[in-house]
Amino acid sequence: MCNSLIPAAYRSLGADATAGSGRSARQDYPPAPEPLPVPVIDNHTHLDFPDGDSPVAIAAALDAAQAVGVQGAVQVGCDLESSRFTVQAVDLDSRLLGAVALHPNDAPDYARRGELEEALAEIEQLAAHPRIRAIGETGLDFFRTEGEGLAHQRYSFRRHIDIAKRLDLTLQIHDRDAHDDVVQVLREEGAPERVVFHCFSGDEALARICNAAGWNMSFAGT
Ligand SMILES: [Zn+2]
Repeated sequence: MCNSLIPAAYRSLGADATAGSGRSARQDYPPAPEPLPVPVIDNHTHLDFPDGDSPVAIAAALDAAQAVGVQGAVQVGCDLESSRFTVQAVDLDSRLLGAVALHPNDAPDYARRGELEEALAEIEQLAAHPRIRAIGETGLDFFRTEGEGLAHQRYSFRRHIDIAKRLDLTLQIHDRDAHDDVVQVLREEGAPERVVFHCFSGDEALARICNAAGWNMSFAGT
């Protein structure tokens, strides 16, 4: 494997974890909480997002989580780069499973560059990895995307639903200010067997729709 393909946080873990600004990011963390009464899996995390100026020390972060009852996590990709990272990460640490997708705010950028089809094809290839268990995060975001980008976003969401169904993977949805349209697209396309509304932001009406359809709602900290 080419060394440059290894996620940065896995290279010389101790040294890289404090590289960059020179500060030790871990010193900024609050004390660990009491261990959870029952073990859980974190179903949505982005370990490729830097911690300040430093890459996350992934093994150390998972060790700290495990010590308080979070036994594993689903690493979620948002674009090609982070989805490739996700596949590498799940191969390197058995506590991770993965999700890959083009985020609804990134899909229009791929479309504008004429690269959306190619990107979707690569997402499907990456999703075939046995430790990739979800397509996400995908969906609709009317807060950050507008104009012509919305059509690309909607198209990308439909394509992700199709990939999830064909590969029998869970669909992990990002829905921001787009509740009715997300439900409409899911119904038009036919929802995959397993659906998660990641970081549920809907109201009682949407909760009732999800409940009736058997779609899971994730209530995350914000
Ligand atoms: Zn996310």
